[in-house]
Amino acid sequence: MRSIVPDYLAELMQECSDVTGGAPADYIPELARVDRALFGIALTTADGRTYTSGDADTLFTIQSISKAFVYAMAIRDRGLPEVLERIDVEPSGEAFNELSLERNSKRPLNPMINAGALTAHSLVGAPNDPPERWVELILEGLSEFAGRELDVDQRVFASEMQHAHRNLAIAHMLRSYDMLTADPEAVVGGYTRQCAVRVTTRDLSVMAATLANGGTNPITGRQVVTPEVVQQTLSVMLTCGMYDSAGDWITTVGIPAKSGVGGGILGALPGQFGVATFSPPLDEHGNSVRGVAAFERLSHEMGMHLMTVPPLTRSVIRRHRRIALRSGTPAYLYELQGPLRFSSVEQAIRLVEESPPQEHTVVVDLQNMTSIDATARRMLLELLRRIGLDGHEVWLIDGETVVAGAAPSGVRLADDVMQVAG
Ligand code: GLU
Repeated sequence: MRSIVPDYLAELMQECSDVTGGAPADYIPELARVDRALFGIALTTADGRTYTSGDADTLFTIQSISKAFVYAMAIRDRGLPEVLERIDVEPSGEAFNELSLERNSKRPLNPMINAGALTAHSLVGAPNDPPERWVELILEGLSEFAGRELDVDQRVFASEMQHAHRNLAIAHMLRSYDMLTADPEAVVGGYTRQCAVRVTTRDLSVMAATLANGGTNPITGRQVVTPEVVQQTLSVMLTCGMYDSAGDWITTVGIPAKSGVGGGILGALPGQFGVATFSPPLDEHGNSVRGVAAFERLSHEMGMHLMTVPPLTRSVIRRHRRIALRSGTPAYLYELQGPLRFSSVEQAIRLVEESPPQEHTVVVDLQNMTSIDATARRMLLELLRRIGLDGHEVWLIDGETVVAGAAPSGVRLADDVMQVAG
């Protein structure tokens, strides 16, 4: 069978191809020379399947999209508290290259504007690493996110360096407040290399899928950063990732994203997929015009807005009833189903609380549970413990032994349902 997804992506591109307007960035002369008709889209699922359409294998420079990943690397290397001491997480509502700092602390407002990105660049690696080492580590890190070895577009790098006055001004401002401790020129040089790393739309979708997959690249299987680092990074992408149109983006698209003046945009939907677009003409905020249109459609047509309220969780209780064990002993059985998280286990707790089992023996059957998160696991273990404290003998049917391993003492494990008779 031909997969449906590439056809959908091709259709999406077709629908967006009449979206015109905007212009490629020209403050970096080399970027202005790009073919404005290029258009690519790629989607990589959190379990590693990539679908593409259009010019998804054309190389272009990552530019500001690198900021999200370098922020993640800074947290990985220095820990969140140290990074927060130097870079805040407040949307600035200002242009990406604004000379702005937080009034009192003198921290850059967030890591997605240049002031914060230059600071994050200098926080990669160990405290005494020289600036050349930051660039090496960043290139390695970006390559791990992409799952292949990336390199720097030297022409774009050189072209931007000739016009880097604004970034130099920002770096000197940061240095004057000791937010940067290294030589501002070295930081701008390294940061400009970071922005000139060449990627394809396909690469960006894999990088985004790595975030969507909790920090493990779904293609190479390598963990690049931890889920905690991803949570922080995606949060900042959601609130600050789209230059000064972040609010508009959250309401219309609702996917944590980052765009770059090279024409790329990537978005990551946690637990589901990473998606990326490439089309050079930019709007007045610096976001790719067609990219924004494609993301808006994708989010709307596919119900991908993060704030879409999911249908009410089906009852977590599949069945609950009086049964007899093989031995003839009467027991009360609770069969739980579906994904277990706070709200579903709470339903089970409520049921036991409101109508406590009358039988001495209580059987909890997890065979129809599809997943369980850490909170639900803790709650479920505590529920079992408390049923035991009420004087019941508790049996657990847990084929996957997700819960059983930590079951409170006294909880007995039934291997399978055959041990209890209907
Ligand atoms: N290298 C560019 C700059 O710092 C990146 C800007 C961007 O993509 O927003 O000006």
